[in-house]
Amino acid sequence: MSTTTMTMEKEANPWESQSARFDLAAQKLNLDEGIWKVLRYPSREVIVHIPVMLDNGKLEVFTGFRVQHSIARGPSKGGIRYAPDVTLDEVRALASWMTWKCAVVNIPFGGAKGGVICDPHKMSMGELERMTRRYTAELIEFIGPEKDVPAPDVNTNEQIMAWMMDTYSMHMRQTVTAVVTGKPINMGGSRGRREATGRGIMIVCDEAIKKLGLSRDRTRVIVQGFGNVGSNAALLMHEARYKVIGIAEVDGGIYNKNGIDLVALTEYRQRNRTIHGFPGAEPAEPAELLVSDCEILIPAATENQITSRNADRVKCKILAEGANGPTTSAADEILADKRVFVIPDILCNAGGVTTSYFEWVQDRQGYFWKESVVNEQLEHIMITAFEDVVRFAETHGVNNRIAAYMLAIDRVAYTIRQRGIYA
Ligand code: GLU
Repeated sequence: MSTTTMTMEKEANPWESQSARFDLAAQKLNLDEGIWKVLRYPSREVIVHIPVMLDNGKLEVFTGFRVQHSIARGPSKGGIRYAPDVTLDEVRALASWMTWKCAVVNIPFGGAKGGVICDPHKMSMGELERMTRRYTAELIEFIGPEKDVPAPDVNTNEQIMAWMMDTYSMHMRQTVTAVVTGKPINMGGSRGRREATGRGIMIVCDEAIKKLGLSRDRTRVIVQGFGNVGSNAALLMHEARYKVIGIAEVDGGIYNKNGIDLVALTEYRQRNRTIHGFPGAEPAEPAELLVSDCEILIPAATENQITSRNADRVKCKILAEGANGPTTSAADEILADKRVFVIPDILCNAGGVTTSYFEWVQDRQGYFWKESVVNEQLEHIMITAFEDVVRFAETHGVNNRIAAYMLAIDRVAYTIRQRGIYA
């Protein structure tokens, strides 16, 4: 293996990306060595092998993970992803990011993440249901409203959450809605949760453009990814008069320099199940869209999209990270040199988990809020977190990402010191 491949492989390992930022922030904070060790690694990692009867009568075994990084500030919280390339290192990184994310927005949760190695696009609904139920059953003693609360992530959705809630409830012999968030509204889901990550992104972009002296109608936006996060961010921003000029998907993108009509695109996608061929835009190369001229670039797909290979060509003024870990730590320095205003993932996409927090609160109270209340509370939390991070960056002379890590680590470390170490 050549040195460059080795380096790229290391650069693309999300756990390396997480650890590099964590170490830098901990060092800047003068974090004491003991707490440093406690927070550098997850506190629990569960691996399960899930037998599933396939529709063709064959038995298959899938490997699943649930990593709980910290429960210092409350039950651990974080999504579950289904994908063929899930690894333990990736889930570890994502679990740590959840701890930092919940601390940045100051909600009373620790961090966790789950994943199952599978290709959900090649599985039937029945196979997905059986896999989800058995995965949940294997984790039964590790999850719960007071322990660890899963939610949707890449390739999981409200239906998967409904099956998880039902499986957990069958084991408990009572309906326990607060065990997962991101559920359908009729079974304890929250109004506004589906759009929450996208809405949160728009709120922090609003704050960022104010800081940079831009206005919505003169701000061109390119979005990578048209899943739950990317599609809602694009639609909400279009409705708020931002000019969304490009959408990149894995298998192709679309571009219109005068702005794409997201309402029409959403309808088109609903009818055709793809954005390709949309008459209101021209086809574009997804890799080119990432480095095209715009004010805001929103990577809202997966990890490792902005790397040492393309960061120097990125032209946006604001990088709003809708995905988790879209930028490698090697790319951080290049973006900093170019003075790109980065809204780091652990702040930018925290609207999802913040509204999950509201869902958990509503489930436990058995009292459900109007959507306007959810959105107002979300706005308040996101703006406060944005201001906290920017202030931290300015006072400590660090970039926004390291500021967000520092703020989060400081909050978690403070709680650990106050609680003390149980022996
Ligand atoms: N998967 C989402 C995230 O990465 C949401 C997590 C949650 O709502 O618990 O933030």
